[in-house]
Amino acid sequence: MAAYDPDNIFVKMLKGEIPCHKLYEDDDTLAFLDIMPRTEGHVLVITKEPAPDLYGISPEGLAKLAAVVQKLAPKIKDAVGADGVLIQQFNGAAAGQTVFHLHFHIIPRKDGVPMGPEGAKMADPDALAATAEKIRNVISA
Ligand code: AMP
Repeated sequence: MAAYDPDNIFVKMLKGEIPCHKLYEDDDTLAFLDIMPRTEGHVLVITKEPAPDLYGISPEGLAKLAAVVQKLAPKIKDAVGADGVLIQQFNGAAAGQTVFHLHFHIIPRKDGVPMGPEGAKMADPDALAATAEKIRNVISA
């Protein structure tokens, strides 16, 4: 298991110290738009447990996190008009993990549209806000 930094960037979002395009929150999880989306509607779902990765979370916490991923994925797919959804989760730098606070990626995919590279560029803030609005509308419907 990786070392856990209690001041990591996702904790700062949980505390409201760093802004994010929040889409969903409950007692155990928070979902927001990835700032460097690989497709439109790329969402991160994070646990509120102090867990750096899959190995560090309680089974109960993981079940709650997975249930939110399951609930949000089809809504995000519909909101952006995608055909499928890729779920990704990295453990360790060697696997591509860059933020050591457990999270799942929900990445909507459209037929024939390639996915952008990881961490390529910051999205336009207005475009992110518009996507967040679309997703919130479907979640709250
Ligand atoms: P991972 O490689 O699974 O650790 O992914 C971490 C993700 O966090 C990357 O896709 C980043 O684009 C995303 N990320 C980093 N900083 C922020 C931020 N301030 N707001 C939203 N997403 C972020």
